[in-house]
Amino acid sequence: GGERKGKPRLTTPLSFEEIGGQERAKQEIIEALDFLVNVEQISKLGIRPLKGILLTGPPGTGKTLLAKAAAHYTDSIYVAASGSEFVEMYVGVGASRIRDMFKEARQKALKAGKNSAVIFIDEIDVIGGKRDGGQHREYDQTLNQLLTEMDGIHTSESPRILLIGATNRKEMLDSALLRPGRFDRHIAVDLPDKKGRAHILHIHARNKPLHEEVSLEKIAEESFGFSGAQLESVMNESAIYALRDSNDSITQRHLSLAIDKVLMGEQSDREATK
Ligand code: ATP
Repeated sequence: GGERKGKPRLTTPLSFEEIGGQERAKQEIIEALDFLVNVEQISKLGIRPLKGILLTGPPGTGKTLLAKAAAHYTDSIYVAASGSEFVEMYVGVGASRIRDMFKEARQKALKAGKNSAVIFIDEIDVIGGKRDGGQHREYDQTLNQLLTEMDGIHTSESPRILLIGATNRKEMLDSALLRPGRFDRHIAVDLPDKKGRAHILHIHARNKPLHEEVSLEKIAEESFGFSGAQLESVMNESAIYALRDSNDSITQRHLSLAIDKVLMGEQSDREATK
């Protein structure tokens, strides 16, 4: 999301195994990617090629991770941007940035000898919001450029482009983006259930010394409604509590304190933006 703007982007390969929970979303995206890879088969059957995948769901649930894993799975170059990066005061700048991003993706893939490139646009609603006739002219040009680029994606081209968009406000998107041949595959990435939360906690506990009494399943139970990003914070905060206690391992108490800390943090963030 926006809060990570400006920070360097992770380019380490990331596989679907490193994403906790989200079993249905993972299965759906893998199915879509397999579909994409088997171009010959799908064209024989006369199936319309897939161009864009839209990931929808609340912040911090792993949409960016899924896009990175999609690039890894298809052995593609990964290029990412956030919708807000295309919002500019001067008319045409956003549109030319869109054009450049597609060009960059193709060039990078060529240079690396890859057959495909994944372009990930987070907060796509910022550029793809409903057009309101007249106002926000600049946004219109940016959105139009994105539509043009999408229409220019061909499954037979090399390198091939796969566009993945993410939004937590799907209802805000302009219908032109959702038309067949554009973002025609939608995958919901929701908050994790208890099993998913346990899985995510285990993933983020991998590099941390846990006391033998610790039950991450219990923590998963206590963290109802937490996103993956919040669970990652819980693991991190618990290690900080352990450090404060001069413990060399994380105890159940440290984890419970960390849950409260993360909850309080969210609350004070909310207060601050009131
Ligand atoms: P946003 O809408 O804010 O961009 P997002 O859905 O793209 O959110 P990510 O950027 O993928 O969320 O997740 C942020 C961080 O939270 C990840 O780097 C990871 O540490 C952790 N995280 C989120 N979801 C998961 C998950 N399912 N499994 C493991 N870690 C997760």
